[in-house]
Amino acid sequence: MSERDLLMIPGPINFDPGVLREMGAPTAGHTSPEFIARFGESLEWVKQVFLAPTGTPFVIAGSGTLAMDIAASNLIEPGDRALVVSTGYFSDRMAAILERYGAAVTVLRAEAGDVVVFDRVEAELARVQPKVLTMTHVDTSTGVAVDARALAQAGRRHNALVVVDGVCSVAGMELQQDAWGIDIALTASQKAIGVPPGLALLVASPRALEAFRARSKPVANYYADWTNWLPIMEAYLARKTAYFGTPPVNLVYALHESLRQILAEGMAARVARHKRLSDAFKAGVRAIGLKQVPVRAEVAATTMSALYYPDGIDAKWLAKVRERGVVLAGGLHPAIRDKYFRVGHMGVVSHADIAATLSAIEGALLASGHEFDEGAGLAALEKALA
Ligand SMILES: *Cc1c(COP(=O)(O)O)cnc(C)c1O
Repeated sequence: MSERDLLMIPGPINFDPGVLREMGAPTAGHTSPEFIARFGESLEWVKQVFLAPTGTPFVIAGSGTLAMDIAASNLIEPGDRALVVSTGYFSDRMAAILERYGAAVTVLRAEAGDVVVFDRVEAELARVQPKVLTMTHVDTSTGVAVDARALAQAGRRHNALVVVDGVCSVAGMELQQDAWGIDIALTASQKAIGVPPGLALLVASPRALEAFRARSKPVANYYADWTNWLPIMEAYLARKTAYFGTPPVNLVYALHESLRQILAEGMAARVARHKRLSDAFKAGVRAIGLKQVPVRAEVAATTMSALYYPDGIDAKWLAKVRERGVVLAGGLHPAIRDKYFRVGHMGVVSHADIAATLSAIEGALLASGHEFDEGAGLAALEKALA
């Protein structure tokens, strides 16, 4: 990666230089006044980004999968029923994690590129009566976004604890944890939060903590156990320290800077910027004949795009895009893995970034001898943003 290359994959993303500088700042001790101040403020800001004023935030060293592990291990006791609404690879991972902690898991699986019909979810909620309902707000393997608000409200109507994997949505797409009745929303630092990989972030509702406190057996995962982490988060929120595991000091500095930028932009403006750039990018790729994996515009994420290769082109073509200074990702969903590629457009992404990405795609298509309406992509993109 040169410093001028564009990393346009669905995480890690391009990071703001001010955020990256924090990674090289002198590392203070985790009990120092400067760290206490920044970690405490970061925890408050996490609640603001998740729109969860009544929630309890957790920021813990690990990847997004740890955040999923924390949600499952603290809520599930052996034999508990869980319903997973699956829109791809990451939803299925959540099902595997829930099973690991002894849950009886029912998976409602959508076709690759589609969502599960809402009435099927309602019917399964009524039939299974699960303790936990999980969904993936944006499944990064398909670029499909679910209606998290409608699903969460359905879960609540059936008394389920609602867990939303928002790793590819939080701070990019609209997610209102409290207002929508989400009990655990979770993400990772390297996606729309805009911080190098290494932090698991989640916010738990009062109901989620109540369910945790009502457990009859200890949490089966020592590192993930809220018994260990709740006092730590409560201490830093009160601008005190407590120790369980050494916090990743520089990642927390970077998080503090990124959250400051996110809240300065404003959540509604940020969501609108992601949508505007996503709509323009999607208009651009449509104009050169690329077909999206999401089957309808309403189910497409605005933090990323998943696009089928045109006929005669396969994953090797991504190297030609790479030669043009733009890094894209290959497929991930097992049913269609070799047929499509993925573009992340979240975080500090700009008009210039998506235009350069589309230009690299057009150039790589030309270099492959693919015939299309040359220049039509950029024209459509610019028209959409005009
Ligand atoms: C990236 C991602 C994950 C996994 O995060 P890691 O940091 O790679 O462990 C989980 N869910 C979704 C929706 C993701 O996009």
